Amino acid sequence: MSDSVLVLHTGGTIGMVVTPEGDAPAAEALAPHLSAIVEASCGELPPIAFCELDRLIDSSNATPETWCTIASMLYDRRDEHAGFVVLHGTDTMAYTASALSFLLPAFGKPVVVTGSQIPISRARSDGRQNLVAALQVAAMPELAEVSLLFGEVLLRGNRAMKVDASGFDAFDSPRFPPLAEIGVEIAVNRSVVRAPAGEPGLLAGRLGQVAAVRLFPGFSASILANICRPPLQGLIIEAYGAGNGPADDREFLSAIERAVAQGIVVVVVTQCLRGAVRPGAYATGSALMRAGAVPGFDMTTEAALTKLAVLLGRGLDTATVAGLMQEDLAGELTR
Ligand code: ASP
Repeated sequence: MSDSVLVLHTGGTIGMVVTPEGDAPAAEALAPHLSAIVEASCGELPPIAFCELDRLIDSSNATPETWCTIASMLYDRRDEHAGFVVLHGTDTMAYTASALSFLLPAFGKPVVVTGSQIPISRARSDGRQNLVAALQVAAMPELAEVSLLFGEVLLRGNRAMKVDASGFDAFDSPRFPPLAEIGVEIAVNRSVVRAPAGEPGLLAGRLGQVAAVRLFPGFSASILANICRPPLQGLIIEAYGAGNGPADDREFLSAIERAVAQGIVVVVVTQCLRGAVRPGAYATGSALMRAGAVPGFDMTTEAALTKLAVLLGRGLDTATVAGLMQEDLAGELTR
């Protein structure tokens, strides 16, 4: 097996160029910078292979098809490389990293998603540092999971969230410890890294139709009822605190009951940065569960949404999907 690392460039700030409308991706703009980094590395980096999406995107334009394309490209090249770096825009990086963890079960090799806040062509770019660290992590077989590297941390991909629109430490996983600290050393937190298990698979194909809504005081039950129409198959509710909602609002609970009766899988996660949904902690949370919603425990919205889309795309019955949403499939959830 080759000890090379494949860099898959999908777009994002790291490879962007200036246009009259603002920064935008440009084909072949990143490759020369990668070559220069490799040349200057004095053998400190693994051998590198490089490929780009046919059409590079600002990650605000990413879709479930983008996730499936990236997953398929990684899966098809799985046997050719020791590890993989996915260069991606920061805006939806946490969604893609989460999706890849579910689309590529038991991948068994490091997949490190990274990018930057300033294009790599600029003097103060954080892209060079993130890319170099990602290449080194991708060459570490013990980090064989989908991770997200940014600034000084390596996070589990399906635990990460973008927390800063402009800072260099733009990502965090507030509900789960970092997989590694990126400092003078790459200090791996071995107690939390997942051990690869099982046969690698690819679940890319048609994904389920899902949506997410965030509760707020005054949230209209009729808006919820309007969202819960075909073709919707799954809904994430970002509820308050330990998974609570407006249980005095009979119309709100009826909208959930009707959605569940129609076969829509409704999953409750928390709006809080830290902590988890705790079923039974409050009567206002129990009411949502009685209406047919299931707890997403400490899953991020990004993980819950992409997991639900992948599970629904497998054509499983709704009870099975609702059950699997409460289980840990790829390190995304703590019971
Ligand atoms: N809009 C950019 C993107 O997500 C932002 C970035 O990469 O930092 O592609």
